[in-house]
Amino acid sequence: MEAVRATAEGVTTIKTKDIRAFGTEAADELLNQLNIRRRKPTPHDVEIEILYCGVCHSDLHTARNEWHGTIYPCVPGHEIVGKVVSVGNHVTKFKVGDFAAVGCMVDSCRECDYCKDGLEQYCEQGNTLTYNSADKYLGAQTYGGYSESIVVDEAFVLRVPENLDLAATAPLLCAGITTYSPLKHWNVGPGKKVGVVGLGGLGHMGVKLAKAMGAEVIVFTTSQSKVEDAKRLGADEVVLSRDENQMQRYIGKLHFVLDAVSATHDINTYLNQLRVDGSLALVGAPEHPLPVAAFSLIPYRRSFAGSTIGGVAETQDLLDFCGEQNIVADIEMINIQEINEAYERLLKGDVKYRFVIDMASLKK
Ligand code: NAP
Ligand code: ZN
Ligand code: ZN
Repeated sequence: MEAVRATAEGVTTIKTKDIRAFGTEAADELLNQLNIRRRKPTPHDVEIEILYCGVCHSDLHTARNEWHGTIYPCVPGHEIVGKVVSVGNHVTKFKVGDFAAVGCMVDSCRECDYCKDGLEQYCEQGNTLTYNSADKYLGAQTYGGYSESIVVDEAFVLRVPENLDLAATAPLLCAGITTYSPLKHWNVGPGKKVGVVGLGGLGHMGVKLAKAMGAEVIVFTTSQSKVEDAKRLGADEVVLSRDENQMQRYIGKLHFVLDAVSATHDINTYLNQLRVDGSLALVGAPEHPLPVAAFSLIPYRRSFAGSTIGGVAETQDLLDFCGEQNIVADIEMINIQEINEAYERLLKGDVKYRFVIDMASLKK
């Protein structure tokens, strides 16, 4: 099959093929098997057979149109690891048989100041996300990693450290980089007291990474059942956030708080944990706005910030750091046919600590 694409140089024909994927046709429908069209590799592309794909809460928000703007059919998945099965004739970084990874972005303008600075996640033209973005090649939307294979420009394909378990590496591509980037940006390290709120996929990576950077880590969780795990993952202290007495303990004491909660919660109680000049970075992206009281910020000159994923080079830094430190996610492997049940469990906070899909199950 072929698709015709208009470019600055004229009209180009791109070869395509249909592959199996798992996705949804509407916000209120379950995910099911469907077929999608992928381009065959153009000169700078790498074709990857997907072996494992992590399940991010953003997949659920998007599949159910909770952030609005979902284009259907929607095939989520942006924590992708697999094997290179073919490469375009200008590809230099990868060869057939290599392991490779793809995260949340598959392209950006590559020309704006942010792209030149390695901040493609903040591209002025808008980057191309791995799913639910306009596909520059085939015209429709991009489709993510709940699929047999993906074709990505090598500039957005990452190398996987050889010593790490492949399935448990997949969550580094979103949960890992989304927590690593703000921890680096806000100079988390020795001598810093850091709060991590919400012990899900992102939160548990935040704990491991902040600890590896040398910080003192305090976890805030709603789940009694996660207290022991939090300590095993590296937390120095664990606070049950629904216990008002426990919540008093760190008021005014933390240098930095990373908030990775997926649902509506009271942000003010966490701003209040910050010292003078402390910052809270929101990475969790709940559907509804979170009210902030002026007096949660003013008295201590506190900052309330946000952060999204990380750039390509920074994602490679994270993967290399995890290789050196032997850090991977704690995962529960599922078959693709169990994805709808996994989404329900995410909504209950019942995940320890990342579902990863064994993509071989798509062939069943
Ligand atoms: P997840 O695995 O479902 O974890 C979310 C955690 O939040 C839960 O495990 C739970 O932890 C806590 N939580 C859930 N409901 C809560 C409630 N009502 N009140 C208080 N705490 C609650 O999700 P995830 O994949 O880590 O993603 C977390 C959020 O980050 C999502 O909104 C996702 O879309 C967003 N995200 C943002 C970016 C970015 O670039 N900024 C990237 C990826 C994901 P406890 O049981 O410990 O309380
Ligand atoms: Zn994600
Ligand atoms: Zn750009």
